Amino acid sequence: MRLPCDLIQDLLPLYHDDVCSQTSRDRVEEHLRDCSACQKVLDTLGEDLLPQAEKAEEQELRPLAEWWQRQKKKNHLNAIVYTMFLVIILGVGYYFATWYVYLPISADRIEISHVYQLSDGRISFNSNVEGGCSSWWCEQDEDGTMYIIPKRRFPGTAVFNDPLWWNDRMNFYPAGYEKDSTSPLAGFEPDLPITAVYVGPVGKGILVWQEGDVVPQASEEWEALVTGTDYEQYYKAVSKD
Ligand SMILES: [Zn+2]
Repeated sequence: MRLPCDLIQDLLPLYHDDVCSQTSRDRVEEHLRDCSACQKVLDTLGEDLLPQAEKAEEQELRPLAEWWQRQKKKNHLNAIVYTMFLVIILGVGYYFATWYVYLPISADRIEISHVYQLSDGRISFNSNVEGGCSSWWCEQDEDGTMYIIPKRRFPGTAVFNDPLWWNDRMNFYPAGYEKDSTSPLAGFEPDLPITAVYVGPVGKGILVWQEGDVVPQASEEWEALVTGTDYEQYYKAVSKD
């Protein structure tokens, strides 16, 4: 009995994969001997089953793969852009820091000497900052304590190189003495009467004078040097001692 082609073709996948019964197998082989159409179907089954599945899978995955490639390129570009952005930010930050960020100079690099009282009541002293400084800052507490803070620019490269600037004479009117506007040296202009003077970082400075301290009177020669305009001569006198 010859089985119809469509029945055989239903069986062909099972036959091809060798998962049908021996009876079905025999019937399929018997049919194939006389039917080239079904033989052709079997042949294409052998060829195409696997590649077709792969092709379908590939087609499904292709958009994902392309997306992944695009994403990889994009990420690479983003990394470059972010790195450049970071470099620019750091560069600009560093540039501004060197101009606008001032760091207080630690007290162990500051030397205070020649503390004398002048005839008008002012107290003068010499402040020497080892290695120099970029600027002097001034702060006053509510109790009248004065902080004179030598600072250097971050990262410390832009330092004034003139020793007359950082090995300097300074003076102030302590509490109880009126500022003399005719004095050749203006001194500090505090908001409150000065009760103490420190040089260095706030809280870690060197005490120059505080209320109650008795300071030796300056000699006439020294007062002339301190109030005069000959900085070179003053600098020589301070360095000699
Ligand atoms: Zn057939």
